[in-house]
Parts: sequence; C-alpha cells; structure tokens
Amino acid sequence: MYRIGQEEINAVANAINEKSLFKVNDKLQYAKKAEEKMCSLMGAKYGILMTSGHAALEAALVAAGIGPGDEVIVPAYTYIATAMAVVAAGAIPVICDINDTLTLDPAAFEAKITKNTKAVMPVHIQGFPCKMDEICDIAKKHNIVVIEDACQADGAKYKGKRLGTWGDAGAYSFNFFKIITAGEGGGLVTDNREIFENSLIYHDSSAIAYFGKQMEDFKATSFCGKEYRTNDISAAILDAQFDRLDGIIADLKKNQMALREKLAPYCTFAPSNDIEGDLGTTIAIAFETEEAARKFATYEGVKCGLPIDTGKHVYTNWSCIMEKRGALNPLMDPFKFEANKDIVPNYTHDMCKKSLDILSRNVYVAINPDWTKQELEERANALIAGLKA
Ligand SMILES: *Cc1c(COP(=O)(O)O)cnc(C)c1O
Repeated sequence: MYRIGQEEINAVANAINEKSLFKVNDKLQYAKKAEEKMCSLMGAKYGILMTSGHAALEAALVAAGIGPGDEVIVPAYTYIATAMAVVAAGAIPVICDINDTLTLDPAAFEAKITKNTKAVMPVHIQGFPCKMDEICDIAKKHNIVVIEDACQADGAKYKGKRLGTWGDAGAYSFNFFKIITAGEGGGLVTDNREIFENSLIYHDSSAIAYFGKQMEDFKATSFCGKEYRTNDISAAILDAQFDRLDGIIADLKKNQMALREKLAPYCTFAPSNDIEGDLGTTIAIAFETEEAARKFATYEGVKCGLPIDTGKHVYTNWSCIMEKRGALNPLMDPFKFEANKDIVPNYTHDMCKKSLDILSRNVYVAINPDWTKQELEERANALIAGLKA
C-alpha cells in the first residue's frame, strides 16, 4: 500500500449513502465501474473483481479446464498461493527453476513439459516482468494454457503491454501489501470469452441468475462454483485506487531509475527482461556469493533483505505442497486422486538448487514513490557506504 486518502473515503461514503454494498444490485454501480476501469487500464476485454488474487488464479485455472490429471508448471520462487491455486483446481503443481531475472526460466519451463502439462503460471514477482513473448511462444508450441500471476505486478508491463494480458488469463491482487489495495481483493482479466464465462460462474454461485439475464450471448452452462464475489465497498475503494495506479508507478519508476543511476558504479543489478516495464517497487542487487550479499544487507544503515529469507515465497517453505497435504479430507486431496497417481512428483528440498542459489545471492532494495530528493539522496548514500565496505 502506498497511497490512500480522501478519494477512497469519499467513495466509501458514497457507497454507504447510496446503500450500495452488494456487488449485484439493480444499479450495478461501483463493481461494474471498477471492473470496466480495470479492463481499460490493463487493456483486457473482460475483467472480474474477486475477493483475492488466489481466488482469481483458481478461477482462471478452473475456467480454462485445468483439473485432475493435469500438471501445471509454477516457478520455484513465488508466493505459495500460486501453487495452492493449482491444487484447489485439482491439478498438480510442477515446480520449475527461475533464472537470474528472478522470474521463470523459459528454457527450464520447456524442459519440464510432459504430455500431461496443461498450463504454466509465469509469476511477475516484485513486479519483475517474465519474458512473456518467449514463454507464450513455448506454450503455444506445446498447446499449453498461460495463466499469469500478476499479483505483485498490478500495472507493470512487458514490451509496452500490461502484465496479466499476455497470457490466456491474468490475476491481480489488491491485498494490503500490493501497490494498490482495498485491504483484500483480486482481479481476473482475460480476452477469452469461455474463460470469462466459466470464471463468472465459478466465482459467484448466482452468476447465471444475475448475469445470464444481462448477457444475451452468455453460452456457458452453470456448475457448482465458489463464492469469491467482491462487494461494492471494496469496489468503490478500488475504483479510486485504479485512478492512482499510473501516478504511483510513474513516481516509483522515477525514484527507482534515479537510485539505480547512483548505485550503478558500485554494484551489479540482477538482469531485467524489461527494465522499462518493471513496476519499480524493487531494485535487485546481485552478488557473487551469499556471504557478500549478507554482508551488504546487514551493514549499518542498509536495512535490506534477501529473497531467500522471504518465507512462503520460496518453494522449500511451501510445507503443505512439499508434504502433499492438498485437503483436510483425503478423498478431496488432489495429491491422492487416482487421476493424479502417475504425475505427483517427488518434491525435494534440492530440486531447484539453481533457484535457491540465485535467491541467496540477491539483495532487495525497496523503493518508495514518495521520497523527497533529499530522502533519496540519503538512501543512496547509506547503500553506497554498504557497497563500498
Ligand atoms: C499476493 C500474491 C498472491 C495472492 O494474493 P491474495 O490476494 O493474497 O490472495 C498470489 N501470488 C503472488 C505472487 C502474490 O504475491
């Protein structure tokens, strides 16, 4: 969360004054407006606001027809929700190495493809763009669905096109820790009508009743889904947050680029697939060894962290995935499904050693869009002192 204030207060006050709390009301106001805004901002045909990013990922997978018997490739470095969404769809996550960009390695992804692979989930972690053209080309060649996890990349781009709109579907998160927020929240975008209609049904058990009437060309048949609908208060907040998004990104980029320029003589940055499109929340500095990375991160005044220490973002800490506990009831556990019996991998601590090495040799510098010139200067000086030490 970076900026929130009077606009959001006004939006919530309006929603309450108008008694517009439920997404699906006769006026269909804030949620509809915010969904349309999300679509036009991102450049997507269809968009659905949901309760979380996880919900949007799960809905996209289910809507794309992913389920038992299917392998879904996920990177070794992402929030555990990416892998959990795969299990929620009844499929099996296959964990794949990242490269020096800290995002999915296209070559490693291609090497993991089997006859059972049905989808890949590139994750734009920290707003670092994945190499989407190459990933989409590989996926197309092998007839694999691409579900982008853009939960840490609301508004970021690759080659000028918003992340989340490269694949068959994309998911955003608006939880408190993301660049824009409603406290909790998520969004799905897609240009694919079938994914859109099935997601609509999956995320809202009454979808047909409410939306079927309004969309004469609605073709999908209803099935038992979940209840992941947003509410109009959250949507009102997001409507205001979407208006701030490009301003926040512009200020993040300005400070990120200014800081990179100051640090450049003293360090090596992790390579980027597209530094222009990168969200600007983070600068990753790459070191030769973990020892050098830790020495810098703990130097007085540096106050930075290593991605290897970020808990549930590293596959080795995904305990319920690694230990294959896919559900409380064993009969509902995809790891125990008959359809999955030949595809459940042997998850080991060392299976993505290359990723662990990369995550141990990088240090993250967080960017603030609201730094004054002097604050940026002070931050640069503290970091340079640590790099020179
Ligand atoms: C935050 C996040 C999610 C899930 O978002 P929620 O809205 O908390 O469900 C998924 N993937 C990644 C990479 C995330 O950072």
